[in-house]
Amino acid sequence: MSLHLPEGKKIAVNIGADFDAHSVWMGTFELSSPGYLSRGEFGAEVGVPRLLELFQRYGVRGTWCTPTHTMQTFPEAFNRILEADQEIAAHGCLHESVRKLDADEERSVMARQLELHDKYVGKRPRGYRSPAFDFTDDTLTILEENGFEWDSSLMGRDFEPYHPRPVQVSPDEGNTFGPPSPLLEFPGSWFLDDFPASEYVPRVNQGLGGTEILYERWRDHFDYAYRNVPNAVMALTVHPQTIGRAHNIMMLERLLEYMSQHDGVWFAPLSDVYDVWSED
Ligand SMILES: [Zn+2]
Repeated sequence: MSLHLPEGKKIAVNIGADFDAHSVWMGTFELSSPGYLSRGEFGAEVGVPRLLELFQRYGVRGTWCTPTHTMQTFPEAFNRILEADQEIAAHGCLHESVRKLDADEERSVMARQLELHDKYVGKRPRGYRSPAFDFTDDTLTILEENGFEWDSSLMGRDFEPYHPRPVQVSPDEGNTFGPPSPLLEFPGSWFLDDFPASEYVPRVNQGLGGTEILYERWRDHFDYAYRNVPNAVMALTVHPQTIGRAHNIMMLERLLEYMSQHDGVWFAPLSDVYDVWSED
């Protein structure tokens, strides 16, 4: 099983832009006051254009994991992303906390989001990232039932795609793994996500630090993968409402500049990376 990157490419870098807008506050945090919603509005009105401009300058095609509530609420910003030839992946309807759903509810959220992808994108998403990187015991099966090709929510590797296995939990006997899923997992990580370090949520998340922590950590991930992992994939997660803030977008620009100075860096949507994977 391995990746065969295009001629001359040594590493694939995916920038996953999770365009959560209002939905993360309403779904994950259960907050819908004007203050929180305005932060999502900043993402749509300011963050998206800034990120698209940066992507255009550095030749980045990214994967925009977008809850369908965002497509409904901010159709103009969403259309700019489509017009910029970026990939759209599934990311829930309202950024639901999937662990609060039973299997039937999770299936109906999936059916509804696929309907809305059809309406707003005009095609089915090939990949999925769960809201807040969380799965239920049913999520993998639901993704397989719905023909998804890849997922990017789990953290069982760092730079190598893999086939995730369901885990049968047994505190007494030791846990056992089921057979590998046909889905390809592009592992994510909270370490490669801008939210924990850089989005302040009173009493919940202290995200008011400087940008050096993210810059150095992401550069070190890149350096490690570039030197040590043949055909690596590095999947970053950024949020327009977070990365679009002035200090953060300047940090991302420095990082793209740094990466671009290396030979063989391929800024690609995850489905393009999926297409060069083979089970050999
Ligand atoms: Zn999200």
